[in-house]
Amino acid sequence: MIQASILGFPRIGLHREAKKALESHWSGKISASEMLSTMRTIRLKNWQIQLEHGIEIIPSNDFSLYDQVLDTICMLGAIPARYQIIAGSFNTDVYFAMARGRQDKNIDIPAMEMTKWFNTNYHHIVPEIDPDTHFSWQYHKVLDEFLEAQKAGFQTRPVLVGPLTFLSLSKSSAAAFEPLEKLDEVLPIYQEVLTSLYEAGAEWIQLDEPILVKDLSIAAQSAFKKTYKQLTKTATHPAIMLTTYFDRLGNNFDMVASLPVEGLHFDLVYGADQWHLLGSPLLKGKTLSLGVISGHNIWRTDLDQVYEQVSGLTDQLDNEIILAPSCSLMHVPQDLKLESKIQAPVGNWLAFAVQKLSELSALTAALNNGKKSDLFVENQAALQQRRNFIAEQKKRSSQPPLTNNEVGRKNPYTIRKAKQQAHFDLPLFPTTTIGSFPQTSDVRAMRSRFNKNEISQDEYDEFLCSKIKETIDIQNQIGLDVLVHGEFERNDMVQFFGEQLDGFTFTNHGWVQSFGSRYVRPPIIFGEIERAHPMTTSWSSYAQSLTDKPVKGMLTGPITILQWSFVRDDQPRSETCLQIARAIRAEVLDLEAVGIRIIQIDEPALREGLPLKKQDWQIYLDWAVHSFQVAAGGVKDETQIHTHMCYSEFNEIISSIAEMDADVISIEAARSGMELLNAFSDFEYPNEIGPGVYDIHSPRIPTVQEMVELLEKAVRVIPAERLWVNPDCGLKTRNWQETIPSLENMISAAEFMRKKFEP
Ligand code: GLN
Ligand code: ZN
Repeated sequence: MIQASILGFPRIGLHREAKKALESHWSGKISASEMLSTMRTIRLKNWQIQLEHGIEIIPSNDFSLYDQVLDTICMLGAIPARYQIIAGSFNTDVYFAMARGRQDKNIDIPAMEMTKWFNTNYHHIVPEIDPDTHFSWQYHKVLDEFLEAQKAGFQTRPVLVGPLTFLSLSKSSAAAFEPLEKLDEVLPIYQEVLTSLYEAGAEWIQLDEPILVKDLSIAAQSAFKKTYKQLTKTATHPAIMLTTYFDRLGNNFDMVASLPVEGLHFDLVYGADQWHLLGSPLLKGKTLSLGVISGHNIWRTDLDQVYEQVSGLTDQLDNEIILAPSCSLMHVPQDLKLESKIQAPVGNWLAFAVQKLSELSALTAALNNGKKSDLFVENQAALQQRRNFIAEQKKRSSQPPLTNNEVGRKNPYTIRKAKQQAHFDLPLFPTTTIGSFPQTSDVRAMRSRFNKNEISQDEYDEFLCSKIKETIDIQNQIGLDVLVHGEFERNDMVQFFGEQLDGFTFTNHGWVQSFGSRYVRPPIIFGEIERAHPMTTSWSSYAQSLTDKPVKGMLTGPITILQWSFVRDDQPRSETCLQIARAIRAEVLDLEAVGIRIIQIDEPALREGLPLKKQDWQIYLDWAVHSFQVAAGGVKDETQIHTHMCYSEFNEIISSIAEMDADVISIEAARSGMELLNAFSDFEYPNEIGPGVYDIHSPRIPTVQEMVELLEKAVRVIPAERLWVNPDCGLKTRNWQETIPSLENMISAAEFMRKKFEP
């Protein structure tokens, strides 16, 4: 008999109960035990939903108060010393201090670092493992939640982040030390946990090792063999279901198939070429969990196709088979039934977490008894409707094919530079900002009143114009060289564009966890993307009419719009990206036509779009760069294109960034003390660079002196004629009281540098 399972479920609660409980607790409105009781209710509800939808293998400990990697840190007792002063023993105060930092009268401890979980938009806490880190089983959550489920009548399969994924995602402050060196101290804790779960009645445990879809060192490969030999050594361990997801195993397949675990889960959606490997003799006797439904996207599965694939497999194999989503369902919204805003008929093509449960149980039932339920019929009809819609749209699309001279600028940077210099006559070390200015409470209040129809379009526009005028005046007073309009009209840098483009639709409750209590509602790209009308020209040209200084037009780039949306799965991502690029290109040209001569196309998501395996990078970088060149390529030599990226690891992708050929790139650099500029200087990056001279994440006002010091460092590696002066990123999260003096100091730093370097 084939069984239906899932690897994890959304944590938010149908009506965002988890988010609300956390935030009320943090603001002191409810106690920890009230918050915890809400969380318990959500867990019970989630198990109930799975049971009702026919899921037979139900996970526990997939829930988290903040993050599953943080839970693992606490389980292992690897709590950095700086948090131990918060309480005598581990409790939720310590836990949240690690997640969010803590600032009160006598304490000021920053949060632990966060980073993206593989190729998702979920952020996990980065464990800190040092030579003197001591391990002991501290946080008993996995056992408590298993028992909690058991008491409520659910036999669950507990989930843990596996030891090697945990150590591989860890960082260390000690030189010449790898967290992996601590494996021998970590394994006994996992063994202790597994034994007590076994004694409590757990038959299976799910160990998540997604690190296996990345390139592994030889050391990590042999660590895998050792680890799973040790964890399966005793008779008192639950059977281990080792899961890998987000991609194929590639070169690691044979090693993984040979591990002495009882079960293996494969991602057969994002690692579709693994189907034919499932007959490997190495897998004999193992339970196979087939990830046949995307846990990472929101389209209905083609049930008939999966039915054929699985029944073809079960005809040949005698392994126990489980069906599952490719990965945890925490990366998709919970339930489609709440939606009323999704453009018809797109809602009919979608499956959120709850709908995916039904897909799984319909598939297992059909495979077990040979009878396909009504869901199969409904599914066929929906898929057919979607195919027809897309075919129809493609036929009607007015886009002529792209021509070669639409890719990239007409002349090389050196020619453009001379024309731009003559046109703008900017000083050495020109100053600018990254785009947004403080989104203060008046801005948010007016937006929300407008959305609720409490004020008219005219009133709202008038308000936005007054904000733009204020911001232009302030920038002129401060003495910036290249101004911006401030981005007050934007709710979000992707949503703002998606809402104005054809081919996008939006949800009202499609929340997906970003980190902790932060959730986002990604736009859904369902069809051909076209730009029906200009999106930003009126704001930019109004701003330009108020000043003689150049005002920079602000756009979000195609890769970032793609990366932060749910993307259609019926054509390659590269094709969808190119459609966005052409829409942005049209906007760039319209901005130029209304007299905007400097245009910034933000691409903060370029790096995070990199595939998990290095061998797949170049293909991605090629189409990503191509898309940027299409978006930016149409303008005259005199028009200056900027781009912006806010991260600090450029080494491995610097040649692609150079190929994008923006005239100016602004980057985050202050926090790393300009160190990342080495990548640009070693590569001899040819165009202009604005390394951020202060960190906008912090409320403190940077001194002139410290910014001069950073600029002094910068001129040592980049010629002064190619340097710009700007903050690390946009200022929307700051307030004006911090922003004005910070920028004034920044201008003084630039003036100091000019005196020194001007001939
Ligand atoms: N132009 C955007 C802003 O200033 C850039 C945001 C980003 O890089 N994430 O807010
Ligand atoms: Zn940024």
